[in-house]
Amino acid sequence: MKRDSRQDASLREAALRALENAYAPYSNFRVGAALRTRSGELITGCNVENSVNGLAMCAETLAVASAVSQGLTEFDEIAIATEDSEPTPPCGACRQVLNEFAPNIKISSYTREGKEATWTLQELLPYAFALNPSRGRV
Ligand SMILES: [Zn+2]
Repeated sequence: MKRDSRQDASLREAALRALENAYAPYSNFRVGAALRTRSGELITGCNVENSVNGLAMCAETLAVASAVSQGLTEFDEIAIATEDSEPTPPCGACRQVLNEFAPNIKISSYTREGKEATWTLQELLPYAFALNPSRGRV
């Protein structure tokens, strides 16, 4: 199969665009990436640091990372769906990741059976860690 140089250029440019949205204020090691899918879509990502190192990338964290890679850093609500019998709140790491961008976010969780629960991040993470003393403290 012959490679199209325009596709290579667009993939590179997409990675460069994602780099512009990288959130790496702690290491200043900014990374952009672009993945072309088999069907020809370009999926971009960027590194998204947090004031707490070593956070895993759960669904909620990946949603935040995906939005940040597109330059979107303001969120009002996040919805979570699981197969558990009760609504599941985000794990502690995801709470911290959400706090980085949206300390007042509303969190909704749903089960397949229709149960739901809602919280504010302040309820779930009342004493968030923050390097900047003006953020995340009550
Ligand atoms: Zn999580």
